[in-house]
Amino acid sequence: MLCSACDARRDWLFINQGRHVWIRCRCGHHWAEPEITRADFDHLLRQAQPNRMHYPTVAAAMADLGFDGTFAGLYLG
Ligand SMILES: [Zn+2]
Repeated sequence: MLCSACDARRDWLFINQGRHVWIRCRCGHHWAEPEITRADFDHLLRQAQPNRMHYPTVAAAMADLGFDGTFAGLYLG
C-alpha cells in the first residue's frame, strides 16, 4: 500500500467504522481500504497498539494522535 498523495508507506492511522476500514495518512489524505477486513484491522491494532485507545469520534482521534495534518511529511517512528 502507498499513500497516493505523498507516497508514504507507513505511519498511518487505521480507522474502523462498522465494517469499513479507512486509512488516514499523516499528510491528511485518507482513503477506504476494502481489502482490510475487520479481522485484519483487529489484528493490526493488537500488533501496533496493545493499549489501544477508543475515541468518541474520528475527529477526536485524529487530533489527539496528530493526524490532523500537523505532522504531514514527517515520520515519527
Ligand atoms: Zn500521505
